[in-house]
Amino acid sequence: MQWFGRRESSNVEDRRGLSTGGMVTGGGVIGVIIYLIYSFLGGREVDPSQIPSLPGTTNQRELTETEKKADDERASFVKVVLAETEDVWNKLFAEQGQQYQEPTLVMFRDQVESACGYASAASGPFYCPGDGKLYIDLSFYQEMQDKLNAPGDFAMAYVIAHEVGHHIQNLNGTARKVNQIRQQSSEAEANRYSVMMELQADFLAGVWAHYEQKMKNILDKGDIEEALNAANAIGDDRLQEQSTGRVVPDAFTHGTSAQRVYWFKKGFETGDISQGNTFKELGR
Ligand SMILES: [Zn+2]
Repeated sequence: MQWFGRRESSNVEDRRGLSTGGMVTGGGVIGVIIYLIYSFLGGREVDPSQIPSLPGTTNQRELTETEKKADDERASFVKVVLAETEDVWNKLFAEQGQQYQEPTLVMFRDQVESACGYASAASGPFYCPGDGKLYIDLSFYQEMQDKLNAPGDFAMAYVIAHEVGHHIQNLNGTARKVNQIRQQSSEAEANRYSVMMELQADFLAGVWAHYEQKMKNILDKGDIEEALNAANAIGDDRLQEQSTGRVVPDAFTHGTSAQRVYWFKKGFETGDISQGNTFKELGR
């Protein structure tokens, strides 16, 4: 992606330099309780792994000059991608006579406090519907490259666009409706709805990539492959196999690798929001 020198979004809270040590001692237990309540209500969105880590368990250390430089470059990249999503979604909302409310992106290091409770770098990037913000620890970039085998700048762009997709589900009421249904459903059924939400966020990321290409023409050859590879690499089946050595379909919350690839591709190829009804097979 030819991102260098492009507009960086100003809707960014840079909390990378903040030590969370003080908050952790006072708010630890309450933080975890809030977090659990929020998770229970299904109001929490964490990608791609849902494993919480308790506050105060990570050691913060100073970055070296080289690490800091790399981190700052990633920060610039993330700000550019966020700005690109703003351009596309502002346009698409305006075409429907609506105004897009741009989300805020919080960059953090190691751990962060959100309206959805505490999160650590281990949770991966997530969207918190409670405060309408995206949260990202830039080390996830490295993790995608090293552990998930999903390298490339556009792999990261896809992840950000996916979280923005959850913001759109929040704005258009889909998230609220689905949460209501989930609360009246069995656990397996509720999980299926979560998967459909995730796949729709992938679809919306694909729609963004479609317009990004059409309006800006700044994608490099291989960018879409990077996104598809990332979608494939962070499907729940892959993640579960990696962590447990077996696949447990009922516990899926993001969709299989094939499903994620399918929906991102559909969004990218059609650019048609009306084709993103991932809930169809559930009879809704
Ligand atoms: Zn998601």
